[in-house]
Amino acid sequence: MDPLPMIPQANPGAGYQAQKAEIDAAVARALASGWYILGKEGEAFEQEFAAWLGTTRAIGCANGTDALALILRGMGVGEGSTVATVSHTAVATVAAIEMAGATPLLLDIDPDSYTMDPDELAAVLEDPPPGLPPVRAAIAVHLYGQACDLGPMLEACNRAGVALIEDCAQAHGATLHGRKLGTLGSAAAFSLYPTKNLGALGDGGVLATDDFELADRIAAIRQYGWRERYISAMVGVNSRLDEVQAAILRVKLTALDAGNAKRREIASRYDAALAGGPIAPPERRPGAEHVFHQYVLRSPDRAAMMAALKAQGIGTGIHYPAPVHLQPAYRDRIALGPAGCAETARAAEEVFSLPMYPELTEEQIERICAALATLGR
Ligand SMILES: *Cc1c(COP(=O)(O)O)cnc(C)c1O
Repeated sequence: MDPLPMIPQANPGAGYQAQKAEIDAAVARALASGWYILGKEGEAFEQEFAAWLGTTRAIGCANGTDALALILRGMGVGEGSTVATVSHTAVATVAAIEMAGATPLLLDIDPDSYTMDPDELAAVLEDPPPGLPPVRAAIAVHLYGQACDLGPMLEACNRAGVALIEDCAQAHGATLHGRKLGTLGSAAAFSLYPTKNLGALGDGGVLATDDFELADRIAAIRQYGWRERYISAMVGVNSRLDEVQAAILRVKLTALDAGNAKRREIASRYDAALAGGPIAPPERRPGAEHVFHQYVLRSPDRAAMMAALKAQGIGTGIHYPAPVHLQPAYRDRIALGPAGCAETARAAEEVFSLPMYPELTEEQIERICAALATLGR
């Protein structure tokens, strides 16, 4: 018997096929315009994204890592500043802090939601670890598509006079108490990497804020510090979103809300298939609407679970297999909070992610649910 065709864990090509005619037309329009960097498509995307999100400004840039680094640069958070975030995240979050010249301080997660432990944040803001520059900002990572426990985090940051930046790279469209993530902190960074809930067909990023002066500085910094052509008003970088990607993203943005709804529907099907078994479905934070960038399970027997799924033609992934503070480039030189990232290290050994994208077919969803119904039993 032929093996079942593999269901990939991510499938950005399917997102292109789902909107192919519109995307092809948008690309042709951008190519024919004769203008390829920072033009009409980019401006229209920034306006449409800001309107969708509900902020006054959105600024396109080269990728999500740059979006975070640009926010820090725009806030003047660089050398001589510490930025608190988590180790259980894409390495990009921590890389961006060092790109801006600041010092990362990595805190542990709450093991049920996989997001920053707000009590540890409050503790380090009240009683900063010795030997570090002052903490000037915290980056809240809304991991897997679900909000951090943002209320107490914002409270602790406000009390300490520290900026809270939202890393929304996995949380386009997610909400907390009815408000969109990316509108709750001082500024927010979104990755537009192809597999994200809003994905370009190449690299891209966008950041959003209601702070007019911050937006104005960042808009200059993303292009050599120019406020007028060829004259650098400040030290800048080059991090621009190109016109072809912007034109594609304008099409993709129209499908984002429906795509998130479909992800939630698939997640409920997975939940139901797991019910009564030894593996618990992902926790939902009360008051938070999840957008399931990833549907993540955990098991001390991860390798066996992944092998069982693979034998049934179901691809899985691990987000992420090594905490940032244990990776060779960071090990032994990155400051950790008082909890020592113990829950982070445990999660990295146990988590695995199921296939999750709106283009999963009914037949594929049924196959995955059938496998989940026997997983670990
Ligand atoms: C993807 C991602 C980023 C970085 O985005 P790039 O566009 O790849 O630079 C940052 N933070 C998180 C949590 C991510 O998932």
